[in-house]
Amino acid sequence: MDDPYHIDVMYNWFKYSVSKAPPHVINKKEKRKWKIEYIEPYGRCTIATQDIKEGEVLFVDHPVVTGPKQTSDVICLACYRRLNSWDDYQCSKCGWPLCGPDCEDKGYHPLECNAFAASGYRPRLQDFDEAQYMYEAMLPLRCYSLSKVEPEKWQTLIAMESHNDLRRGTELWDREQTNVVDYLLQRVKLSVDEELIHTITGILDVNCHEVRSNIPGTRDPYLVRGIYPLCAMMSHFCVNNTHHTLMDDMTMVVIASTPIKKGEQMTATYTHILSATTERRKHLRYGKFFDCTCARCSDPTEMGTYFGALRCSQPGCGGNILSTDPLAPTNDAPWACDRCRYKVSAVTVERLNKMIYMELRQAGEEDPIKLETIFKKYQYVLHPQHFHLVGIKHSLSQMYGRVAGYLLPDLSEAQLLRKVNCCRDLLQVLDVLDPGITRLRGLTLYELHAPLLLQANRAFQNTTITKSNFLQQLREVEGYLDRTIYSLKHEPLSSFEGEICKIARNSIQELRKWIQKVETLPETHFLPEKQEVVPGHLSEEDLTLETLLKKLEEQ
Ligand SMILES: [Zn+2]
Ligand SMILES: [Zn+2]
Ligand SMILES: [Zn+2]
Ligand SMILES: [Zn+2]
Repeated sequence: MDDPYHIDVMYNWFKYSVSKAPPHVINKKEKRKWKIEYIEPYGRCTIATQDIKEGEVLFVDHPVVTGPKQTSDVICLACYRRLNSWDDYQCSKCGWPLCGPDCEDKGYHPLECNAFAASGYRPRLQDFDEAQYMYEAMLPLRCYSLSKVEPEKWQTLIAMESHNDLRRGTELWDREQTNVVDYLLQRVKLSVDEELIHTITGILDVNCHEVRSNIPGTRDPYLVRGIYPLCAMMSHFCVNNTHHTLMDDMTMVVIASTPIKKGEQMTATYTHILSATTERRKHLRYGKFFDCTCARCSDPTEMGTYFGALRCSQPGCGGNILSTDPLAPTNDAPWACDRCRYKVSAVTVERLNKMIYMELRQAGEEDPIKLETIFKKYQYVLHPQHFHLVGIKHSLSQMYGRVAGYLLPDLSEAQLLRKVNCCRDLLQVLDVLDPGITRLRGLTLYELHAPLLLQANRAFQNTTITKSNFLQQLREVEGYLDRTIYSLKHEPLSSFEGEICKIARNSIQELRKWIQKVETLPETHFLPEKQEVVPGHLSEEDLTLETLLKKLEEQ
């Protein structure tokens, strides 16, 4: 068949994924809204064939295979439950740790179980240089086994990019040679070409998604990795237009996070949205083997957010220090002030960011005061929307109200206000860098609603608020809860976000009842409407010319 870019293979995977998906997730009769095209330098891309609305389901993606991460605790290879020890129960056929006999034939375990059983090799802890790497060969072995037992899955997998040419000779390649290739060839005695195993590990390095396993009946999800061919096909952009959600059966559901116009690419982000250009580009270069040149990476201001900018310290300048060439291949272009051209080397900027990073790590996520201290220390060195300051605000937005000693009812007015402002500032950055439907937006809106509701209710109890103002504030909170639900409604109930969505649904019902009640309350429960518009008490000294003239006119 004439399919050099394996486009038909991917269409087949789409059909297969739809057939495997639970009916409530995707309308199986609905036509596909996108097509696959091969475009340099992206490779296979997914392109909208019609205008797509925010929130519309684009596709479901069934995993080709899942398995442990490169470094892992001792887990059950069938259900991914974390195990207490290496030898509580070992599979009667292959000797690997499992929960018990029930798991021997479950999940993807039979793929490696049969290979180990056939080889006669029994795993021993001392065979691994480091215990944390003992599962590194497991997912590659599962992939290889697919070639024998599930040719269609294998065809889909092997059609993916491995970047062997770019990986060869790197530290990563050497580690995989020891932990995967040598292990499988010498211990498990697979008779297979070394290069093919490297191709598999490459496909895994380039394309794997880290996913949360979901173990029914427990609250102990464990991070594993999986191959999702349709997700992996979407091009990377540092501001993207899709959102993916992992269902309990490990199916991925991908929706449009913002509207997508006909002819536009559907895009995803393979790196951390809330890091600055240099960090993102390095991560993509070393982890995914390409140099990102997207609109955000090309713009020294990162779309006007100044996410990596420093404040110029030259007297009276007030400019921002930005990279003079954010796309420089080795990320070493000098940085310069956008007003006075004062220069700082890229190495200095990197050192500063690293130093702050270390301080933040040391401060931890338990004590907001430690973070406030770091914030104060750097607030005049970094742009107010610098990623470290936004990161601190993100942490504070969650710590105030959630950590011991700072639960919501314990917070002072100033701390409540700080929580509110941290949420608002974070949302402002997210509107640009991570627009539309996202988990972080949903969670932040939820964090924002709580202190506002508390403040409004406190003012009502103390009769320091007018009825119209109180109702206005309650409706604002209702709006935030509504947006929380909108942003998180795609998340499975078993996840943290799904749980927050459920709580928000209950809260909004309660709030709507409260608003109805407040509407019927007599004015005597509130501050009189007129009184509030007077800006405090004016003393004799506060008299302005305006008020003086008015007084004279009244006489
Ligand atoms: Zn198990
Ligand atoms: Zn087994
Ligand atoms: Zn980029
Ligand atoms: Zn300057």
